Order: sequence, then C-alpha cells, then structure tokens
Amino acid sequence: MLKITDENSYLEELKFRLKEEGFKLTHQRRNIVEVLLNAHGKHMSSEEIYDVVKRGCPEIGLATVYRTLQVLDKLGYTNKLNLDDGCVRYELTLDKNAHNHHHLVCKNCSKIIEVEEDLLDQLEDVIKEKYGFDVENHDVKFNGYCRECSQKLRKA
Ligand SMILES: [Zn+2]
Ligand SMILES: [Zn+2]
Ligand SMILES: [Zn+2]
Repeated sequence: MLKITDENSYLEELKFRLKEEGFKLTHQRRNIVEVLLNAHGKHMSSEEIYDVVKRGCPEIGLATVYRTLQVLDKLGYTNKLNLDDGCVRYELTLDKNAHNHHHLVCKNCSKIIEVEEDLLDQLEDVIKEKYGFDVENHDVKFNGYCRECSQKLRKA
C-alpha cells in the first residue's frame, strides 16, 4: 500500500501550492485532505469523503467537497479512478512527478489492488519513437479476478 511518510510536510507543501494559485488551505479543505491521507489505500468517492468529513466538520456541504477535489485534481494532488460503476474515486498523489500507479480491479469481490511498479517504460519508449508522442501520464486499470477469487472460482 502506498503511504505518506510525513503528513505535516505534505500539508505544508500543499498549503504553499494552494497559496500560489490563490487558494487558502481552509479548515474544511484541510479536513478533506486529512480524510484522504487517512484513507489507507482505500479509493474514496466524493460522497464517501463527504460522509467522513461531515463528522468533524458538520457545517460542510457536498459542493465544497466537490470543489476542493477539483482544485486538488487541477494541481495534481489527486488521482481519479473511474471504475465504470458511475462513481469516480479519489486518492492522493504521493509523488506528483511520478506516473500514476496501476489498478487491478476484481470483477468478483470488487477489490482494488495497487501495482506500484510502472512497468510501462518500454511501451512509453515505443509510443515516443513510433508516434512522436510524449507520454506524460496514464490511467491503467486491469479487470479480472484476484488471487482469492480465482482460486475459489477454480474450485467451484
Ligand atoms: Zn509510466
Ligand atoms: Zn476478488
Ligand atoms: Zn490507487
């Protein structure tokens, strides 16, 4: 699981970046980021984030959560994950200069497994060579069955 080692310096850097863009790290925005920091590899929808933030910040509205996620996304702080179930999930980007990690989505139990290795260097080189295209990032999602489910399904 990907983890942020130093929460405070992450928040400090974010505060600085927001300020550069003319935004403030308000109490509400900070709470939203903290929920994402404590998501422990869970990919949360904006509604799920709202439900958790509301506990510490009862005055917050869903619209504020949406807007904050938009700002974070624009500045490269979040990675959006679209699972084709009609809801977009968010997670914090730990290294803004790195490419997104890949996701393995189990069709049976809906578990999401993170792949930390990029493994696409060769493909990116081919794309550059053949199409003259500079790959900046990618969203890669694999659908299939996790180890437990494929074992269970094989036995059945
Ligand atoms: Zn890559
Ligand atoms: Zn599974
Ligand atoms: Zn992820």
